[in-house]
Amino acid sequence: MSIIDKFKLTGKKAYVTGGARGIGKSIATALAEAGADVAIVDLDLNEAKQAASSIKKATGVHTIAVETDVTKADDVNQMIDTIVEQFGTIDIAFNNAGICINVPAEDMTLEQWQKVIDINLTGVFLTSQAVGKVMLKQGSGSIINTASMSAHIVNFPQPQVSYNASKAGVIQLSKSLAIEWAKKGIRVNTISPGYIGTELTLNSPDLKPLIKEWESMSPLGRIGKPEELQAIAVYLAGDASSFTTGSDFVVDGAFTGI
Ligand code: NAD
Repeated sequence: MSIIDKFKLTGKKAYVTGGARGIGKSIATALAEAGADVAIVDLDLNEAKQAASSIKKATGVHTIAVETDVTKADDVNQMIDTIVEQFGTIDIAFNNAGICINVPAEDMTLEQWQKVIDINLTGVFLTSQAVGKVMLKQGSGSIINTASMSAHIVNFPQPQVSYNASKAGVIQLSKSLAIEWAKKGIRVNTISPGYIGTELTLNSPDLKPLIKEWESMSPLGRIGKPEELQAIAVYLAGDASSFTTGSDFVVDGAFTGI
């Protein structure tokens, strides 16, 4: 198989959580452009339907939209059943839904702490576990989980104690799954983006005022764009990365290098 063919995802079946917008939508688009059928999974069904329909129009692949709260085990199991019913199988799982709450540690309520951990870490566990059962039966699959550069450094100056802890957890969770499932045909990797321009950053009243500061801290002098994460996701999804598992890929314009 040529190296070009190894990057093709034709005939593969994928889902992306948090796929209605931002990084998730961009990666869903890339997987579809590489040939995969894609399920857009999100809390927001309307936005998920819009994303599914625009990706289908642009690429011609089969897309579906599935409403799911990744913190609820029943929702997640139902979501996996729906995708298997529609697509027959799942080859690529991109567990990406996430939020942040920016509150000083001394003021953070247990509810705020728990909400971030539930979505960012427990949500990744529940979705990985549910799709893992499907992939174990078929003896193959690639799981990609979205961590963050904040798993490696502490995001600054905004206070994000729960976010940083949740993302460090995503990396270690993913490495654990990679090792448990290594001989069973399932690969598990993480992507750790630096600051990327999405709703989460550009339209957050807490974070938007900090963008200039992040840009001045960044060696490249700017934050990233969602499409700058597409190539690593396509690489991890398909045969090109057959020897890559239990790894984390930092895509941050050298932010964590300083
Ligand atoms: P975003 O807010 O633009 O999109 C997040 C999506 O997740 C939304 O569509 C939202 O509806 C969905 N979502 C939220 N809670 C959910 C739940 N419980 N169940 C299902 N869907 C849910 O955010 P983004 O910037 O695209 O971030 C995507 C991922 O990338 C997150 O995990 C985030 O932590 C991570 N990340 C983002 C940045 C950044 O700078 N934007 C940097 C590093 C990591």
